[in-house]
Order: sequence, then C-alpha cells, then structure tokens
Amino acid sequence: MTANDSAASSEKEQKEADSSPVISSAKDGAIAGIAQYDVAIIGGGVAGYSAGMYAGRFGLKTILFAEKIGGTIMLTDEIANYPGFSMISGYDLAEKIRQHALEYGLKEVPARVAAVERKGSCFRLRSGKDGKDMVQAKTVIMATGTEWRKLDVPGEEKFTGRGVHYCALCDGAFYRDKTVAIIGGSDSAAKEALLLAQFAKKVYIIYRGEKIRPEPINERKVEAQENITVINNTHVTAIQGESKVMHVDLDTPYEGSDSLALDGVFVAIGHIALSDLAKQVGVTLNGKGEIGIDRQARTNVPGVFAAGDVADTNFKQAITGAAEGVTAAYGAYTYLNEQDIICACNDEDC
Ligand SMILES: Cc1cc2nc3c(=O)[nH]c(=O)nc-3n(C[C@H](O)[C@H](O)[C@H](O)COP(=O)(O)OP(=O)(O)OC[C@H]3O[C@@H](n4cnc5c(N)ncnc54)[C@H](O)[C@@H]3O)c2cc1C
Repeated sequence: MTANDSAASSEKEQKEADSSPVISSAKDGAIAGIAQYDVAIIGGGVAGYSAGMYAGRFGLKTILFAEKIGGTIMLTDEIANYPGFSMISGYDLAEKIRQHALEYGLKEVPARVAAVERKGSCFRLRSGKDGKDMVQAKTVIMATGTEWRKLDVPGEEKFTGRGVHYCALCDGAFYRDKTVAIIGGSDSAAKEALLLAQFAKKVYIIYRGEKIRPEPINERKVEAQENITVINNTHVTAIQGESKVMHVDLDTPYEGSDSLALDGVFVAIGHIALSDLAKQVGVTLNGKGEIGIDRQARTNVPGVFAAGDVADTNFKQAITGAAEGVTAAYGAYTYLNEQDIICACNDEDC
C-alpha cells in the first residue's frame, strides 16, 4: 500500500476506529480492558516510523498514531541529503521508512491523539471521537513534529488558501506563469522558491535579514535561477487584495514602491513545535516550546522519549529525526529492560 492509498483508506479506517475503539481487544494484549503496549509512538513522520521500525526489531509491542501519515517530508519534492539516496522524493522516502517499520509488526493507527495522561507507571492515550478510544503504554515516544509558523500580518488569515500558502509542493502548481513570493530566508524557503520557479513566471524571496541562509548548494541554485529575485532587509507588513491576493505591503521600498504586486504568497518562516501532549505529562519544554531531550532521547519524565522536529535539537532534518527516533526506541527498550512495569489500571474509570 502506498502513502496515498493509505491516506485514502485512512478515512475508512478512522470510521472503523470510531465504531471499534482501540480498547478491549485480547489480541492487543489487554489484561482486562484496555489494549496495552510496550511503546506508543505519537507521530507518523520519519522520526515516528524510524522509532517504530527499531521498536519492532527489539521485539516491543508497539502502536503508532499518525494524524497525517508520512508527516512533513511528504511535502518536499526532492531530498538530496538523505544518506543512501542521492535523490529521492519526500513521498517515496516517507513511504519506504513506513513500509520498513510495518515489516516489523508495527500497529499503525491513522488518528490524532487528543490526550495523554499518566496512570500509575504507565500512560493512557486517548484518540477518536470525544477521546473514547484508549490504549495504555509503558513508554511513549513523542514524534509530533511541528506546524507552520504564521506571519501574523493583516490579510494572512483572510487569504489563506486563496493566495496565501505554506507548502509549495502542495499549491505551487496553481501559480503557473504567475508572480509569487516566498517569505523567509532558510534552506527550506530557498528550496520552496526553487520549486516554485519551475511553475511561476517570477519568484521573489522576501527576507527580513541581511542575507538568506540556505545550504551553499541551494544558495548557488537560487543565484543561478533567472526568475528568482531576493529582496533582503524587508518585512511584509500586510497582504492585500479583494477576492484574492493582489499585492503585499513592504516596510522598505523595493524599486521605489512599498507595494509589490503578486498573485500568491508562500510563507516559509519556520515551524512551531507540537508539544502540547508532552506538556500534559509534565515534560519540560525550552523557550521555543520544543521538548528537551538528552543523548538517549529521554525527556525529564521517566518513560517518555522524544524525537525529530518536536525535540530541542538544532539541526532538524529527516536523517537527524530518523536517528533520534531510533535512539528513542533504544531508550524505551533499555528502560523496559531495567524495570518491570505493570499497567495496573485496566478499566476506563480507574
Ligand atoms: C520545505 C521543506 C523542505 C525540507 N527539505 C528537507 C530536505 O531536503 N532534507 C531533509 O532531511 N529534511 C528536509 N526538511 C525537514 C524535514 O522535513 C523534517 O526535519 C522531518 O520531516 C521531520 O520529521 P518528524 O517525524 O520529526 O516530524 P513530522 O514529519 O512533522 O511528523 C509529525 C507527525 O506527527 C503527527 N502528529 C502531530 N500531532 C499529533 C497528534 N496529536 N496525534 C497523532 N499524530 C500527531 C503528524 O500528523 C505527523 O505524522 C524540509 C522541511 C521543509 C518544511
């Protein structure tokens, strides 16, 4: 099954999950009521599935919840820096990692986890409609990734999906022969601009800093791309239009004007860690809301591990997320070997 097939079947599986909660199934190992796992992974990106693959190899009974199967990497067209692949699409990479994990018996649930709570020495995860689906786990790996950071200027919310976007691979094709801007200066922003330059007539990169800071190889590609122009030291202060985007306001005039005519705006100014579930069980976050982990991917809460973009590591890439996922699985394995954990609480109300 491909990730697309999986997305198509997700809805069906979700409906089944809604009518058939992940509770009370003897095959899931419940002692007397709630399905019990050695490891519950929250997140279906590279970090989550890499953790799932190793947890399976360690013989741990593992369940993985994914609101969006495949995660962020699915939204990138070309990955040229994942060891072993000189070029692979994000979709194919995600699918390969996922299939590898499934080979080791990972139970995959295409659903959002709404809540996590500590119950004795175990954790209880709630998903499904009104949180009625429950599982218990002896350890939890948080691999929830991030969401797009918003620009937070007038017009952004109003035009979201109608000229304001966050993913060039998803929406770039709407801008064939049009003029668009990427807002941001990171490597991801440069990659988004290079992708858009294949469709659009003209691409501006608008960056608030002195100079954009992609990987050197991508910087050279941006410089060589004739239809990309970089505007540094400039903030977009508003996105304007009528039924769709028509121009943005700039705080520093460009070619004599503080207004730049555009058909579309792609915001690429970073991400916000999705760490609310970790916070619910007392995990310490840093000032950016990222989960603090040590070199064993442990958080401050025994039995809770974290990996990937949600963690407080500096270099957020597919390969580093995969490695942290693997480390977290090993951490869970070691933790479970060191102590005999029994999930004593086996009915819904205790
Ligand atoms: C434009 C762009 C280009 C990039 N290019 C590259 C590149 O060339 N090379 C590279 O190595 N990296 C690249 N990256 C970075 C890379 O995509 C990320 O580092 C990596 O995908 C992060 O993986 P992750 O598993 O930590 O998180 P994610 O992939 O974000 O996965 C998070 C998962 O958690 C799920 N989730 C969140 N909350 C819940 C919940 N409550 N319940 C259930 N599930 C939940 C999500 O649905 C998702 O499945 C790029 C990123 C961007 C944005």
